[in-house]
Amino acid sequence: MERREFLKKCCATAPVLLAVAHVGSPQDTPQAPAKAPAYDPTKHYYGMAIDVAACIGCGRCAEACKTENKVPREPIFFRTWIERYVTRKDGETTVDSPNGGIDGFPALADEKSIERAYYVPKLCNHCAAAPCVQVCPIGATFTTRDGVVLVDDSYCMACSYCVEACPYGMRYINPTTHVADKCTFCYHRVTRGLLPACVEVCPTNARIFGEVTRPNSPLTTFRRLGSLHVLKPDLNARPKVFYANLVDGEVR
Ligand code: SF4
Ligand code: SF4
Repeated sequence: MERREFLKKCCATAPVLLAVAHVGSPQDTPQAPAKAPAYDPTKHYYGMAIDVAACIGCGRCAEACKTENKVPREPIFFRTWIERYVTRKDGETTVDSPNGGIDGFPALADEKSIERAYYVPKLCNHCAAAPCVQVCPIGATFTTRDGVVLVDDSYCMACSYCVEACPYGMRYINPTTHVADKCTFCYHRVTRGLLPACVEVCPTNARIFGEVTRPNSPLTTFRRLGSLHVLKPDLNARPKVFYANLVDGEVR
């Protein structure tokens, strides 16, 4: 019996035993993906800002993410996607995201009745107090020293606890790898000094990636320039994806 199947069976019947079993030798600790040899995670702490006013809904970020991370092409699997919010003058707000925005958005009917319309890119918030990390019974979902929430594929048993626990709907069970999947901030790239694929392709710099706390980093500078929001702040998950130019409370 494969280790993952064994763990799955155990999890269904004895979660306490599993928690104890996980306290093992150092080599039992879930691992981040391979990174550059000189990379020191203690010198970084990552987050992202999204400038909603700059996003044009072109969907290049969602497409680049699918290619970079081999996300299944079916339009129900995304690590990042774009939502379009349309608020009419009568106060009604509708949201659409056809194929995550990858193919663009259909023209809006009755333009005169529109109060405002804007695009909101979504991705894992890499929460500092992540509910998904807290519920994983075997520590397969974990937070790196540099503040990125990852899944160790060799540990994950696809129990879906984390999928259920994420209040932002950012996780899915990958039908190819059969483990929990979501945005990694392109950890395999950023640990080599590259930007996440979605940030690199954005033609309007609507996505600003970098150090959350380092003075004068692009992200810190951007955060100083205006008021930012996080999604669902009342949950105290402490998201590290910050939104600028968002109508407070309208986007969840
Ligand atoms: Fe976990 Fe969801 Fe927060 Fe990402 S957004 S860290 S998947 S709880
Ligand atoms: Fe918005 Fe940039 Fe993504 Fe285009 S690539 S949808 S502008 S965030």
